[in-house]
Amino acid sequence: MTLTIGIDVGGTKVAGGVVDEHGNVLASNRRPTPAEDPAGTRDTIAEVAAELAAQYPQATAVGIGAAAWIDAAGSTVLFAPNLAWRDEPLRDYVSKAVGLPTVLENDANVAAWAEFRFGVAKHADDSMVMITVGTGIGGGIVLGGKLWHGANGIAGELGHIQSVPDGHPCGCGRLGCLEQYASGNALVRFARAGARQEPERAAQLLELAGGDPLAISGRQITEAARAGDGVAMDAFAQTGYWLGVALADLAQSLDPQILVIGGGVVDAGPLLMGPAERTYRDQLAQRNRFPVAEVHAAQMGNDAGVVGAADLARRA
Ligand SMILES: [Zn+2]
Repeated sequence: MTLTIGIDVGGTKVAGGVVDEHGNVLASNRRPTPAEDPAGTRDTIAEVAAELAAQYPQATAVGIGAAAWIDAAGSTVLFAPNLAWRDEPLRDYVSKAVGLPTVLENDANVAAWAEFRFGVAKHADDSMVMITVGTGIGGGIVLGGKLWHGANGIAGELGHIQSVPDGHPCGCGRLGCLEQYASGNALVRFARAGARQEPERAAQLLELAGGDPLAISGRQITEAARAGDGVAMDAFAQTGYWLGVALADLAQSLDPQILVIGGGVVDAGPLLMGPAERTYRDQLAQRNRFPVAEVHAAQMGNDAGVVGAADLARRA
């Protein structure tokens, strides 16, 4: 049995685990991320990995998944929006500190890989696309049984494909990106706007938010929508609609075996998956002579980062 170590680097915590070839986590540990401090974050990753390696000396490699843009060689973090890294040669630093071969990968790619190997897409052997919906949007593409990185290492940045020409401004500098219409932040924006325009239809939502539309949170939207609040349900319907349009575009361009929606917003279940899937099927209605990929919610939950990174390390 070969064991590898997976490290999931987020803006608030560094989580690590020792993982076997079936995706089982045998041991885990975690530390807070000193996100303002690039050297401290780097050292925290190395310490978490070294502790696990000391516990399991038979571990053969380390995989790191980070919310970051990584160079095509998989060695350097070019930029990380929520961490202070700029041009950080992270892979070789950790490899040297721990004394094990190390791979470095974008976190959304890692999560997609975990679903492809051990999660909802484990029956697919060739291709999948996963859209990760959190406060923002990420994505991962598997083609021919391998993660697709693209020529420059940035394939799968699905949050920044355009949904609405001249639409809402995005942090990336473009207008109308998918992230502005189908993310957790977009859900909140839709609900706040709806609650201002039609307060009587948002009675339950506004009650949860103490009467202030600007205080509405994602969790409150889910709770209110489950109780039948009109504006909260509309917010999910809008978010799901744009997600469905994007899924249809991905099916048209890549024709994967399976499409997966992951990330925190998936906890809302059918409130989001329902409208996303309906829109996806409507958009592809002209393809009714052809089979189309099924759309499923991700299954791996919080372990996806650790398990996916460890598995990529095993295969490197
Ligand atoms: Zn953008």
